[in-house]
Amino acid sequence: MTANLFDILARSIADPGATAIETLPGERISYADLLARTGRMANALAGLGLTPGDRVAVQVEKSVEAIILYLATVRAGGVYLPLNTGYTAAEMDYFIGDAEPAILVCDPARAGDLAASAKRVGARLVTLDAGGQGSLTDAARAAAEDFATVQRTSDDLAALLYTSGTTGRSKGAMLTHGNLVSNTLTLRDAWHFTTQDVLIHALPIFHTHGLFVATNVTLFSGASMVFLPKFDTARIFDLMPRATVLMGVPTFYTRLLEDVRLSPAITANMRLFISGSAPLLAETHREWRARTGHAILERYGMTETNMNTSNPYSGERIAGTVGLPLPGTELIVTHPESGAELPQGEIGMIEVRGPNVFKGYWRMPEKTAAELRGNGFFITGDLGRIDEKGYVHIVGRGKDLIITGGYNVYPKEVEAEIDGIPGVLESAVIGVPHKDFGEAVTAVVVPTGTPPLTEAAITEALAGRLARFKQPKRVFFVDELPRNTMGKVQKNLLRDRFAG
Ligand code: ATP
Ligand code: MG
Repeated sequence: MTANLFDILARSIADPGATAIETLPGERISYADLLARTGRMANALAGLGLTPGDRVAVQVEKSVEAIILYLATVRAGGVYLPLNTGYTAAEMDYFIGDAEPAILVCDPARAGDLAASAKRVGARLVTLDAGGQGSLTDAARAAAEDFATVQRTSDDLAALLYTSGTTGRSKGAMLTHGNLVSNTLTLRDAWHFTTQDVLIHALPIFHTHGLFVATNVTLFSGASMVFLPKFDTARIFDLMPRATVLMGVPTFYTRLLEDVRLSPAITANMRLFISGSAPLLAETHREWRARTGHAILERYGMTETNMNTSNPYSGERIAGTVGLPLPGTELIVTHPESGAELPQGEIGMIEVRGPNVFKGYWRMPEKTAAELRGNGFFITGDLGRIDEKGYVHIVGRGKDLIITGGYNVYPKEVEAEIDGIPGVLESAVIGVPHKDFGEAVTAVVVPTGTPPLTEAAITEALAGRLARFKQPKRVFFVDELPRNTMGKVQKNLLRDRFAG
């Protein structure tokens, strides 16, 4: 028996004729097709010199072929390394230099830009375009279908996934076959996935959310997914009547809410709406329920751990919480400095332990030692608390905590008050350097336009609601908050912009 994720997937397929992936042009790829094509692709990769443990770095648009490349890499014993399609050649040079892949796969249009980086680390450069064509596809087409899956243990690496870089430079998280398989099976069961499910897949496939949560869970359930190149309101509404699950970042839900087509009727065939990657506002959760009758299921995870908590499928899904620790995952809240476990209810650092927790940061032994404790707990960097029902509440990132005049201010608490003021669409609260206070609480507000808002109006509205040290010293208005592709607010950009 091998612990290779591919083998476990292949063995679990009950109906090879069932559709695994459907594309918008209407192409249907069955499980049998998918497996056969991974055989050809694995032979092509081996032909390019891939040996077990080698990284395959991939910067390509979303396509079925990219999923085949992921599965084939794992099947051939390689380590899949997907990279954000938005990265520039200079950013790619850093990742390629850090990961030293044996093979680099990119869009034909980027090959010229990336050739020098590939050459520097001795990587073979091959291409794959948005339509699934390129020199890699040509090699796969010419290769044999039979491929003996490479034996792997559950502790061997399957993927090297870089974090989103929200709080600093992206770090490579080493994920094992065991990490990915265990989390996939846990989520499949927790969310009641079956062969009958049809997932609307509108996420990018270079992050944990779209690649592992969405893709692995679908494939390991024998379900099918419809691939949208990107989020597209009209297409999502077209698909809902014959789909069953949507996985999205919070902005998917806020955008769908803006559309008059959202109704109980159009979502009647859907059984589950899942949200993650960034906090879902409690208000969005409530509005969604009012408009559709469905309670969005919010879950919490990260590149280093896959998913840690989820609101329950059958029990109460509580707005503003990320639910309960998943079976097999332990979650504790500790004192940020001493590391001692805090009593239930107190805010502190979230730490997690379980088969889902990564092996460490790629070539960063010091960072790994600082964040992954000897007892197996990973220090997530997120602050939160566990309520009396056991539900986890995220209050923000440790790095976003504001310390002003010696007091801790949790941005989320201030943001929640600001968001409740009529005329506020959303807000971000940050700390900016201040000569007297160390940091000054600063609010950045996106107004709706009605009623018109002023800095003084916001300050007055907050006066009776928050302790003085929590009240923003300054309020700035912007048209929108800076967000990355996963809908995460980039507070570092706001701090730079409003410093001084
Ligand atoms: P970096 O580690 O490079 O700064 P990042 O932490 O944004 O970037 P990811 O691993 O993609 O990179 O994101 C994980 C983070 O996303 C979590 O640590 C948490 O802060 C946030 N997150 C994920 N799901 C939720 C959620 N449901 N609610 C609140 N925050 C969430
Ligand atoms: Mg992180």
